[in-house]
Amino acid sequence: MYPPAFNYSAPTSVEEVLTTLTNEGDGARVLAGGQSLIPMMKLRLASPAFLVDINGVAGLDYINDVNGHVAIGALVRHNDIVKSDTISSTNHTMASAAPWIADPIVRNRGTLCGSVAHCDPEGDWNSVMLAARAEVVAQSASGERVIPIDDFIVDFFTNSLQPGEIVKEVRVPKYSGRGGGAYMKLERKIGDYATVGVASQFELDGDGKIAQAGIALTAVNAKNTRATAAEQVLVGETPSDELFREAGEAAAQAAEPETNVRGTAEWKREVVSVYTRRGLETALAQAQA
Ligand SMILES: Cc1cc2nc3c(=O)[nH]c(=O)nc-3n(C[C@H](O)[C@H](O)[C@H](O)COP(=O)(O)OP(=O)(O)OC[C@H]3O[C@@H](n4cnc5c(N)ncnc54)[C@H](O)[C@@H]3O)c2cc1C
Repeated sequence: MYPPAFNYSAPTSVEEVLTTLTNEGDGARVLAGGQSLIPMMKLRLASPAFLVDINGVAGLDYINDVNGHVAIGALVRHNDIVKSDTISSTNHTMASAAPWIADPIVRNRGTLCGSVAHCDPEGDWNSVMLAARAEVVAQSASGERVIPIDDFIVDFFTNSLQPGEIVKEVRVPKYSGRGGGAYMKLERKIGDYATVGVASQFELDGDGKIAQAGIALTAVNAKNTRATAAEQVLVGETPSDELFREAGEAAAQAAEPETNVRGTAEWKREVVSVYTRRGLETALAQAQA
């Protein structure tokens, strides 16, 4: 199916992107990898009057190791994350999630920042960002603001960007102590969206206790959701099988899945529990390595 008619521009600088977005108002949308927006337009689920294609803007494809965090620019593709030594050496959760995003063709074009902006509850990256306590840098013609990921994800396909703002980069904190993490994803076939996904990570303090924990769920709520009670089970405690089992059960309580062709709600909750436990076991092995 063809999308509805739209106007299009391909600026070559961020300033030009921001000016065009401001001038075109509410009807304008950023086009990054196009791997979600174009299918939605073809299905007539989205009909932007104006597309601002950012692919010709130089200098937005950086993965930079900065003080305390890794900054990921708006044109970093999923496959750039797969191949990045910076990511594999700083964040196990991201490194384990990247190969699970879609298929090789989508991974070559789709961007991490586009996924974050899209806020699809079946998208994998926002759970990873919640677990890592990432921040989104929004830029408009009037300046920049930094938005914690919990405030950025508002609802089903809804973020907290204001008109005229773009996601310029996402900042992912590095572990401050010994850390580890994993993204566990159940899909019906290779390349599919998650039936259930769980991102989990934690950091150990000098006594081997859990100093900080992040657990977030994909495809089992109306938006990617932090499993706050499960995180609280972990913090201040010494890792153990029993503790991880308890956290898994608490994470399952945060899931509100639907029964559909992919499985029953009860079974999906069980998968959340098991994947949380397995992710935490993986994180512990990494943190102690
Ligand atoms: C066959 C298929 C399978 C897929 N499977 C998965 C999967 O398993 N897991 C998964 O997580 N995703 C999956 N996806 C989605 C894919 O990851 C997309 O790449 C991603 O959702 C959006 O990134 P994009 O760069 O393609 O964004 P686009 O499609 O270009 O844009 C998506 C939305 O985000 C906005 N946007 C994009 N970039 C910015 C920015 N910098 N600032 C502000 N707004 C912006 C756009 O305006 C639009 O509203 C799949 C897609 C396809 C086609």
